[in-house]
Amino acid sequence: MNDTDATLDEPRSDFIRDIVRADIEAGRVRVGDIVTRFPPEPNGYLHIGHAKSICLNFSIAAEFGGRCHLRFDDTNPVKEEEEYIEAIKTDVRWLGFDWGEHLYYASDYFEQLYQWAVHLIEAGNAYVDDLSAEEIRAHRGTLTEPGRESPHRGRAVEENLDLFQRMRRGEFAEGEHVLRAKIDMASGNINLRDPVLYRILKAAHPRTGDAWCIYPTYDFAHGQSDAIEGITHSLCTLEFADHRPLYDWFIDNLPVPSRPRQYEFSRLNLTHTVLSKRRLIQLVSEGHVKGWDDPRMPTISGLRRRGFPPAAIRDFAGRVGITKSDNVIEMALLEHCVREELNLSAPRRMAVLDPLKVTIENYPQSEEMLEAVNNPEDAAAGTRKVPFSRTLFIERGDFMEDPPKKFFRLAPGREVRLRYAYLVTCREVVKDNSGEIIELVCSYDPETRGGNAPGGRKVKATLHWVSAPHALDAELRLYNPLFRDEEPKIGDDLAAALNPQSIEILKGAKLEPALAEALPGETLQFERQGYFCPDPDTSLEHPVYNRTVPLRDSWAKIQSKSS
Ligand code: ATP
Ligand code: MG
Repeated sequence: MNDTDATLDEPRSDFIRDIVRADIEAGRVRVGDIVTRFPPEPNGYLHIGHAKSICLNFSIAAEFGGRCHLRFDDTNPVKEEEEYIEAIKTDVRWLGFDWGEHLYYASDYFEQLYQWAVHLIEAGNAYVDDLSAEEIRAHRGTLTEPGRESPHRGRAVEENLDLFQRMRRGEFAEGEHVLRAKIDMASGNINLRDPVLYRILKAAHPRTGDAWCIYPTYDFAHGQSDAIEGITHSLCTLEFADHRPLYDWFIDNLPVPSRPRQYEFSRLNLTHTVLSKRRLIQLVSEGHVKGWDDPRMPTISGLRRRGFPPAAIRDFAGRVGITKSDNVIEMALLEHCVREELNLSAPRRMAVLDPLKVTIENYPQSEEMLEAVNNPEDAAAGTRKVPFSRTLFIERGDFMEDPPKKFFRLAPGREVRLRYAYLVTCREVVKDNSGEIIELVCSYDPETRGGNAPGGRKVKATLHWVSAPHALDAELRLYNPLFRDEEPKIGDDLAAALNPQSIEILKGAKLEPALAEALPGETLQFERQGYFCPDPDTSLEHPVYNRTVPLRDSWAKIQSKSS
C-alpha cells in the first residue's frame, strides 16, 4: 500500500458524517457538492491536533465525492509569516491529502469583505466606534450582566461611511477607531454584543503588502470566506460553538453567494504534551527544543522527523473519532498506531545499542555472508546478506555472569542462538582491571549455520549481533515525553514542566552495514530494540538515528489493565 495515499483508508462513522448523510438524503445538498475546508492561520507549524481536523475535512470530502479546500486564514499580519504557509502545505501533503486547485487565502477576499462591511453600515447594522480596546472590553459586561452601549452607537450612516473610508485610507492611528456590528449589547451571548469587525493595523501583510491598514477580525472573515467558496459544512472545534449565532447573523445579513453551516467537534488533547500554538512557539523561541521539527515536538514536522508514518497518524485520527466531548488521549495510543503500521512495513535490521565484544575462538574464516529476512510480515521484502566474522558485538544486557532463574540469555557455559547465524556457547569472561566485563570468548557450532541445530537441540534465547569489523558507529537519539506530567500544568515557568530526560543520546552504537544506505523518511526496525529512522543530521561518516518508538507497547498494557 502506498503509505501516503489517504484515499485507501477505511471510511469512518461519526455525528458529522451522519449530518452530511442526512443533508444528502433530505436533498439539502447533492452528492458530489459537499465542500469542506481546512483553515489554518499561518502563525505556526501544524500539530497532531490539526491532523485530526485535516483528516476529518479531507476524508469527508473524499467519502462523499466532494472537495476540501486549503484556506489560509491570514487576517492578522502581525503574527503571520510565509515560512508557515510553506510548512503547512508540506505537512498537509505529507499526511496524504490533496487540495488540487483549491488553495485559497482569506486575504484574497479583503476587497469583498470591505464591501460587505459597507453593506452592513448602509443597512444600519454596523458603526464606527472611538472607544479604545480597553473601554470596549469594560463596556462588554459579563456572563451575568448585560453590556453597555457605546456613546457612538447611534452615529449616522453617512458619518460611519465617511469614517470607515478614512480608516481604510490610513487617516487614523491604530486603536483610534474600530468598526463594530450593531447587534445587541444585552444579548446573553457575549459574541453578539457588537463584535469588532475591523481594526486598524499599520502592518505590512505577507501577501497584500501595504494595500491595507485595516484588517477584518476572524469572526468577520471566516464565515464569509466559507460563503464565497461555497463551503457546505464548516467544521471547527468546540470553542467556536458560542460564535455560531454570530456566524449565522452575518450570513443572514449579507448578500453572500451561499449558505454554509458551522458544526463543532471537540479538539484533540494528548498526554505529556501541549497543543497550544502559543506554547509551541514558546518552546521553539526560548530554545527548549531544537526547532519546530524537533522530534520531541507534537508538530507534524516533528513526528515526521521522528519517523512516524503518515498512515499511522491517519489511523490515530480515525481511532480518536469525532465527538462533542472533551477528553485527553493517551500518547501511548498514538505510539501504538505507529507500531502497528511499522510492524507491517518497516524493514528489519540489526543494531547493538550498548555493545559488548564477543570473540568466536574456533571460527576459522575471516568472514562470511549470511542470509537475513528483511520483514517476516512481508515476504515480498525479501532477504539481505549480513556479514559474520570472528569478532562481534552483542548487547551488554544480553549477558549475565551470574544469571537469576528467569534470565535465559547468554551466561558462562550457556548456549544461545545468534540470529541468522550460529549457536554459540560462552567459554570465558574477560575483565579489565576494574572488574568490568570487556569481552566474552565463545565457541560456535559450525553445524548450526542459519541458526538451527541438526539434532533439534534447543536453546532458549536468540540474540541480535553485529560483526565488529563491518559495524558502523552511530549516534542514537532516544526520545521520552517532552513534559513530565500527563497533563502538564504550565505556569510562568515553562522549563519547570519539561522532562529533563526528554532526549538521551547514545554514542557508539554499532549498526549492521546495510544501514549505511537508509535515508531520512525511512523507518526501520532494529530487531529486539525498536523502530528507528535516520535523522536529517545523518551522514556516511557520522550516522545519526532517531528512535521513533521502542518495541514495547505500553498502550497494550494500559488496555489490558483497564479491561
Ligand atoms: P490556537 O492554538 O492559537 O488557538 P488553532 O490551533 O486554533 O490556534 P488554527 O490555525 O486556527 O490554529 O487551526 C486550524 C484548524 O485546526 C481550526 O479549524 C481548528 O479548529 C483546528 N484545530 C486546531 N487545534 C486543534 C486540535 N487540538 N484538535 C482538533 N482540531 C484543531
Ligand atoms: Mg484558531
